[in-house]
Amino acid sequence: MPIKVGVIGMQGAVEEHIRMVERALKSMGKGGTTVPIRRPEQFLDCDALIIPGGESTTISKLLANSGLTYAIKKRYDEAEFPIMGACAGMILLAKKVIGDGKKIISLELMDMEVKRNAFGRQRESFETDLGVKNFDAPYRAVFIRAPVATRVWGKCEVLARFDQKIVMVKQDSCFALAYHPELTSDLRIHQYFLSFIE
Ligand code: GLN
Repeated sequence: MPIKVGVIGMQGAVEEHIRMVERALKSMGKGGTTVPIRRPEQFLDCDALIIPGGESTTISKLLANSGLTYAIKKRYDEAEFPIMGACAGMILLAKKVIGDGKKIISLELMDMEVKRNAFGRQRESFETDLGVKNFDAPYRAVFIRAPVATRVWGKCEVLARFDQKIVMVKQDSCFALAYHPELTSDLRIHQYFLSFIE
């Protein structure tokens, strides 16, 4: 069966993720389609879901209003499936958002607390070579007004840190990164994500 990967298509880096998934599928010799998701019925037959970077307050509002917050949580409760959240997407996966997080309706799927815009004004955006657990070479990561995980507990496992701050985590079939894996030509993050699809 060809794979169907959904990319939440409300706002943010949607097209870039779609292109990266298509390239990653090809590189892995897998057939599949990648579609933007705006309504619950578009998502129900997806094998995996990406929540892209953007503005987490806006995306969370649109997800809640469209019924997707409820649909994603319900389906995940019934049977886990791979979800990747990047930057704003990481915020939306966290069980706890601190600071000005009150405006955010999170999916609350990962045992972590996140802080939005955690690098401050001096470091609004930057790139760095990141050591990622199980990757044999560093990954060039692009951070843009990025969050960090200030705390993890339970089943949440840390996959990468930058300056001691937690910037990549995994829990069951969910994983979250504080940076933008769709903005480089390195396919490893998307390949890693797609490898969770059974
Ligand atoms: N700062 C944004 C937020 O809090 C996230 C930025 C991003 O996704 N690049 O939602």
